[in-house]
Amino acid sequence: MADLEVPVLIVGGSLVGMSTALLLAHLGVKAMVVEHHRGTAIHPRAAMINQRTMEILRVVGVEQIVRTRSEQQFVQDGGIVAVESLAGKELAAHIPNLNEGVRDVSPTVRLFITQSLLEPLLKSRAQDMGAQLRFGTEMLSFQQDSQGVTAQIRNRDTGDIDTVRARYMVGADGSHSRVRHQLGIALNGRGVLSHSVTIYFRAHVEPLLRGRSLSVILVRNPVLRGFFRIEKPFESGFLVVNTVGDPTNPNTDISTGLTNERCLEYLYAAFGTSAVPATIENVMHWKATADVADRLQEGRVFLAGDAAHVMPPYGGFGGNCGIHDAHNLAWKLAMVVKGQASEKLLATYEPERLPAGKLTTEQAYTRYVTREATYLGTDGMQPPENDLNIELGHRYHSSAVIPDSDENGRSHENPREAKGKPGSRAPHIWLRPDCSTLDLFGSKFVLLTGGDGASWAAAAPNLPVEVHRLDHAEFPEAYGISNSGAVLVRPDGFVAWRAKTADGASAHLLRGVLGQLVGLAPSRV
Ligand SMILES: Cc1cc2nc3c(=O)[nH]c(=O)nc-3n(C[C@H](O)[C@H](O)[C@H](O)COP(=O)(O)OP(=O)(O)OC[C@H]3O[C@@H](n4cnc5c(N)ncnc54)[C@H](O)[C@@H]3O)c2cc1C
Repeated sequence: MADLEVPVLIVGGSLVGMSTALLLAHLGVKAMVVEHHRGTAIHPRAAMINQRTMEILRVVGVEQIVRTRSEQQFVQDGGIVAVESLAGKELAAHIPNLNEGVRDVSPTVRLFITQSLLEPLLKSRAQDMGAQLRFGTEMLSFQQDSQGVTAQIRNRDTGDIDTVRARYMVGADGSHSRVRHQLGIALNGRGVLSHSVTIYFRAHVEPLLRGRSLSVILVRNPVLRGFFRIEKPFESGFLVVNTVGDPTNPNTDISTGLTNERCLEYLYAAFGTSAVPATIENVMHWKATADVADRLQEGRVFLAGDAAHVMPPYGGFGGNCGIHDAHNLAWKLAMVVKGQASEKLLATYEPERLPAGKLTTEQAYTRYVTREATYLGTDGMQPPENDLNIELGHRYHSSAVIPDSDENGRSHENPREAKGKPGSRAPHIWLRPDCSTLDLFGSKFVLLTGGDGASWAAAAPNLPVEVHRLDHAEFPEAYGISNSGAVLVRPDGFVAWRAKTADGASAHLLRGVLGQLVGLAPSRV
């Protein structure tokens, strides 16, 4: 007999676990989160939040508060540059302005907010929506059978051990994932690239910035290679150090034997001066790694976030990619838990997210090599993809997508070229000044039709879809249909299927399509 019964147990309540809980709560599923730590993140770590993640946060109602906090914490639209040192010369402008050239593709923006500020916002919203959060609680072990997962959890303060019975479990327990280890799933890829450190400091660095609006400052000089992130009012931040010494044959173990004095040496070398007094507040030791799990599902257990893929923090992809995993998985779990889909739908998580995780990890590796660790060489390295294609351009191929007859099978592309192709993120168009097409998605399947789509609208009333007739000039072209066609969008805002015209529009057809997508016989839809 279990002490507690929940629909979904989430192991790990950091960025990805908390996002999973929030997304499930938004869909009416009250999952339980167990988190080893007694509170949310204390270290800033992830801060670059990309447009896709902001779109997801918009769906669950926290976009505005995140934007406000971000403005308080960081300069907006700052560039990503490489410098010899803060005081020294600029070597490259990787991204001159964070949102330049991408504002048209989304109702929201890229921004920076640290994990230590973001996680409490996610937590508070998840809690308000009914998620069950247990901090200071460790998942010790689990077993699964054909009906569910049984896990033993221990309260770290009282030592009490409870048994939790869940229908499904999500391992969002980070790069050292106990869930992944217990499932025997291996990580594969480039392995550990460096034993890096993040040095959190206080110093009045504003004069060194010389009015430049910068989000991330990569440092490349004969002493070290790494990067700065500096918070307003420019009196604190962190310096990551990945390698030191000869750039062609560097020391990649910064961690072993690191002293406070050595941290200050690195800091002054990165400042380009020792005339700015600095104090070290904290040092975090971590490994820059580029690896992906072989599988993301074993029976009723799923891996998400760093448990599924670990990548160097070049491109700011890691946490974002994990939140996108959570978003892909949450609606599928919710539909299955509510009896609206069969478990075949859950089996689409891995074919959709594993390629996305692999691409993103390789692209982070490419940025690590080209922007910092040139000694690794470019043999076997993927050429760099535009950031936008990685953030918004994934194309999913699984049974939860019904492709066009001329499907080209691409794994990703420029989101401006996707134009409503099944498997791609549904495009953004402003319908009214503050209402995007994306604001129509989030909890149900949505059928979008053009101004001449009356027959589609007439076919849908008794089906579990929400219909919107968009008599909007830009809509047909943006979604690759005629004005009488229809596009079926999944709850995660990805296109599931489309008909370019009204030919064959009927309830029978739509029922068959929905059944195929969620793995049910049409009569059960
Ligand atoms: C210096 C640096 C900068 C970065 N910058 C960015 C950035 O700008 N943008 C970005 O997207 N990403 C960035 N990343 C990556 C990002 O921090 C990670 O991808 C992200 O934190 C992963 O979140 P997660 O929830 O999957 O894992 P984690 O944050 O590792 O959380 C896992 C949680 O699981 C808990 N846990 C583990 N085992 C158990 C257990 N048995 N029981 C209960 N709880 C357990 C842990 O306590 C932990 O809180 C950066 C990383 C670093 C190191």
